[in-house]
Amino acid sequence: MTASTDVILSRDQLYIGGAWVASSSADTIAVENPATEEVLGTVPAGTAADVDAAVAAARAAFDGWAGTPMTGRAAVLDRLHATLAGRAGDIARTVGLELGAPLKIAQRVQAGLPLTVLRGYADAAARPAPTETIGNSLIEHEPVGVVGAITPWNYPLHQIVAKVAAALAAGCPVVLKPSELTPLVAYLLVDAAEEAGVPPGVLNLVTGTGPVVGAALAGHPDVDMVSFTGSTATGRAVAHAAADRIARVALELGGKSANVILDDADLAKAVKVGVGNAFLNSGQTCTAWSRMLVHRSRYDEAVELAAAAARGYRTGDPFDSSTRLGPLVSAAQRDRVRGFLARTDARIVTGGLDAEVPDRGWFVAPTVAADVDPDSELAQEEIFGPVLSIIGFDDDEEAVAIANHTRYGLAGAVWGSDDRALAVARRMRTGAVDVNGGAFNPLAPFGGYRQSGVGRELGAYGLAEFQQVKAIQR
Ligand code: NAD
Repeated sequence: MTASTDVILSRDQLYIGGAWVASSSADTIAVENPATEEVLGTVPAGTAADVDAAVAAARAAFDGWAGTPMTGRAAVLDRLHATLAGRAGDIARTVGLELGAPLKIAQRVQAGLPLTVLRGYADAAARPAPTETIGNSLIEHEPVGVVGAITPWNYPLHQIVAKVAAALAAGCPVVLKPSELTPLVAYLLVDAAEEAGVPPGVLNLVTGTGPVVGAALAGHPDVDMVSFTGSTATGRAVAHAAADRIARVALELGGKSANVILDDADLAKAVKVGVGNAFLNSGQTCTAWSRMLVHRSRYDEAVELAAAAARGYRTGDPFDSSTRLGPLVSAAQRDRVRGFLARTDARIVTGGLDAEVPDRGWFVAPTVAADVDPDSELAQEEIFGPVLSIIGFDDDEEAVAIANHTRYGLAGAVWGSDDRALAVARRMRTGAVDVNGGAFNPLAPFGGYRQSGVGRELGAYGLAEFQQVKAIQR
């Protein structure tokens, strides 16, 4: 694979009611390659009027789609899986270009994971739960209605599929607004949906900025549910907008996850996997284990191991197969991460502001900070860059206290003897914890405690998020 742009990059239309249409405005948004700072192409800067049209198309499609049996919707998702899988190469290349994701991550995660997630929803829809009764009541699970889906840039197709495929499986038509930083891959999904025969109005695409298209969608009186993934600050605004009409919201927000390494852990493995997790996608991962908590008896050794691992991360051209760390998504994101590094008084063991990075592109060197104060900005704020903070603790009690000392609660990890690690995992106030390297499960519920969000995505729990429950008494 090369960086060549033989995939079509500029797109000049929106997808509404099963047709490619012009936006009501001629304005466009430039999409940049963050590794080269070049403009890759443009997409329409949609408007509130475009959102009105898309919501009307979704509303018109509701009865037909909601009335299609779940297994019929599963068959459509099956076809969508096939047409999307046929585009896997283009998806990886497009995300490589618009996000700067290194080749392997682009192929395995950015293109591969959405296909796995889509498969999970199609399978769940193909096997609807048997009809439930409680006494004289028949319990029905019905689609919640028209869904507005607003997504970020860091795993652009995965985050779209995690909500759109679940909504479609549940019987809800969707209006999708992808991130303005990575809108191109969303077009590949819509191309695949069109080829798969997703009925008109069931999936609509309006590209544009958050304050215009995102806000219009979140506040739209005819949108029954807003499913949002992004920052906690924007999630709060979306929830406020939806609250005015008591619309349902699902929020997948930020995180500041802890990787807790107990004194009886396999230290080399815990540190190696921990560094890999923290730096995945240049640290632009909501579940990133950005805080490494290490028992003091093994602290110095862990810092050395982490620094050595970080030094092995080659930074550069995402399309060079030896690159492990691409750029950050934008100049603003790069500057934000550099700001955290400029303000911290932690001990920078490797990386930092003075470390060498490519001249062009929005790069930050892989950075390990030790002796990080658990109350400091570095330990409390979501950095969203390749910056790992290491913090010491004296016993399991203190480890749990530090792990939970954040306003977030999305993910985390524990390493140590099985029973002890499991006990610590149970005390962590987060939606997910991996014990001794337990693998990510794309069918398990995914979501946050506290300011990391509301609701769950993926698998059967993700599908249920887009249903409401009715009791019919007989
Ligand atoms: P963001 O909040 O800036 O943007 C997310 C989306 O919201 C974009 O499509 C944006 O255009 C839109 N938006 C912006 N302002 C809006 C408004 N006023 N009303 C409606 N929509 C608006 O987030 P981002 O910078 O794209 O993504 C990074 C953040 O997302 C990080 O904080 C990260 O942790 C979080 N995230 C969370 C998860 C999760 O599942 N929990 C997954 C990925 C990313």
